[in-house]
Amino acid sequence: MIETVPRSGPPEANTCPAIICDACRRQIVDSGNILWAHKVVGDSGEPPAQSPMYAAHKGNCDTAMEKWLKAQYGPGWITLWEEASTFLQQLAHNFGRDFAKDTQDDYQQRIVRHPGRDPHQTVPTSR
Ligand SMILES: [Zn+2]
Repeated sequence: MIETVPRSGPPEANTCPAIICDACRRQIVDSGNILWAHKVVGDSGEPPAQSPMYAAHKGNCDTAMEKWLKAQYGPGWITLWEEASTFLQQLAHNFGRDFAKDTQDDYQQRIVRHPGRDPHQTVPTSR
């Protein structure tokens, strides 16, 4: 997830925004995946729902996070992912776009369901 990492300096102490792997708790640099769970609602009339977004290194870490997401959300939910660099480009693009002012497209609101267990208290193991 996006976090701040304390830095001692010089020239001064600071906090550095970074993407930290939710599986191994190390910084993701250059390549990784953003993962989340998505509830498949179809025509059921249920409101769309998703999990919070998580980040993981590719390989053992995203495999562990995907397994953890499936265990947290269960049947009716699927796991999705996006390459972190692509996701960040899309996020930066949308940061300057106000969906509420877009008169051409409709944007659905989603319910964000948090997992029953915080992954940082029971860290999914990537090993
Ligand atoms: Zn990792």
